[in-house]
Amino acid sequence: MPERSDPIIVIGAGAAGLIAAWKAASIGAPVLLLERNSKPAIKILISGGGKCNVTHDGPMDEMGKAFPKREERFLKHAFHSFTNDDIRSMLLESGVPTFVRPDGRVFPGSLRASDVVRALVDRVRSSGGEIRLNARATGILSSDGTVAGVTVGGEEIPSRRVILTTGGVSYKKTGTTGDGISWGAGLTHTIIPLRPALAPLRVHPPLPVEWRGIAIRGGKLSLYGGGRQIDSWPGDILFTHEGISGPAALGLSRSAAVALEKGDVALYLDFFPGAEFTELDRDLNRLITEGRGKQIGSIVCAMLPDRMVPFLLGQIQVPPSTRGYVLKRDARRKIVGLLKAWKIGTIGGIDIDRGEVTAGGISLDEINPRTMESRNVRGLYVAGEVLDIAGPIGGYNLQAAFSTGFVAGESAARSWLDSNGDDPR
Ligand SMILES: Cc1cc2nc3c(=O)[nH]c(=O)nc-3n(C[C@H](O)[C@H](O)[C@H](O)COP(=O)(O)OP(=O)(O)OC[C@H]3O[C@@H](n4cnc5c(N)ncnc54)[C@H](O)[C@@H]3O)c2cc1C
Repeated sequence: MPERSDPIIVIGAGAAGLIAAWKAASIGAPVLLLERNSKPAIKILISGGGKCNVTHDGPMDEMGKAFPKREERFLKHAFHSFTNDDIRSMLLESGVPTFVRPDGRVFPGSLRASDVVRALVDRVRSSGGEIRLNARATGILSSDGTVAGVTVGGEEIPSRRVILTTGGVSYKKTGTTGDGISWGAGLTHTIIPLRPALAPLRVHPPLPVEWRGIAIRGGKLSLYGGGRQIDSWPGDILFTHEGISGPAALGLSRSAAVALEKGDVALYLDFFPGAEFTELDRDLNRLITEGRGKQIGSIVCAMLPDRMVPFLLGQIQVPPSTRGYVLKRDARRKIVGLLKAWKIGTIGGIDIDRGEVTAGGISLDEINPRTMESRNVRGLYVAGEVLDIAGPIGGYNLQAAFSTGFVAGESAARSWLDSNGDDPR
């Protein structure tokens, strides 16, 4: 039987777990943080390409608006309880100053994710929290709808308060294999179907291998299915060995994954979303006139990356060697049509493991957003990506994990102090 004074157990030392453990310990509750890996927060270490886009600048209400409506409503309290300024101040106090990029993304000044992890781990330890590494939790014990402890292999650790922060199911090698999601289901929680988000898009037919590494700055990708536009996303686009990546592709992946369940989804690229068809037609015409005897292939190279031109002109049956001045109006308009709406192909698949986040997870309807406590199981608190939360790129997902972790840690600690007859510090 668990005792009132048993420590709060936090499962998973990622972004949400470290903040939850720090907050609970700093209020004065005993805390045991379990992490299956030999080091904490591997996902933070690889975040932002190892530089860690730690949060996003601006008012917290704006931050909320970056999430789907239901998630925005759920996050409101957490976002105001622990803000982007709070995490930045906390890091600064730990000797990790941050800076804001012109696009609003916040990074550590050193551009080293390891500095962020070190600061968070130091905070947990200096507040009195214990971190146990190489400790994979294997289950959550409960009795009569109340948490009773956690199992770690054959060992049972009793506790009346467990904070579940095991993350999503992508990048499984980092430790996120979905343990918390299975336990949530076992503990009567509804699981919203898991889908990739912020993942590269595989396309069919595959794109020429020599395109790998090409970046299109400021384009726009659009998805079409069932005879209508499903979604579109502006931003940079990157051709990789996996297909299409970069902010625009990652941004579309969540809705592409949903649409794929219903049928084929076509992907279109607008190379110049800021220009109208007629404007581009005028530009191309001017380039042709100025180019005099130049071939259309080299003229179009002024508008598109060189490596793409022969393939793209081939798609509309315009030989690149055609002299610009002999090009008919129809052929010129076909080129402009391609610049505005090139059908890349159909989406061939989206690998959930390659998603920077997992959409879906433990249903928000069954978690109290003011405490992060489960409405189904007393003493179970849930925070971070294990919940049905997935924001866009830009530091939103780490902030959601920090803020929900903060609320979970604070409410679990207050509950511990209440039942142990202590006043919160
Ligand atoms: C490549 C990549 C880049 C990213 N870049 C950014 C970025 O720059 N900015 C941003 O905002 N977001 C970024 N994200 C997303 C962000 O990292 C996650 O949304 C965030 O880390 C989620 O925090 P979390 O605490 O919920 O889960 P995680 O940080 O994933 O932590 C979960 C922890 O639980 C542990 N665990 C799991 N099961 C068990 C168990 N049974 N027992 C014990 N421990 C367990 C795991 O080992 C892990 O340490 C990126 C993600 C990826 C994959």
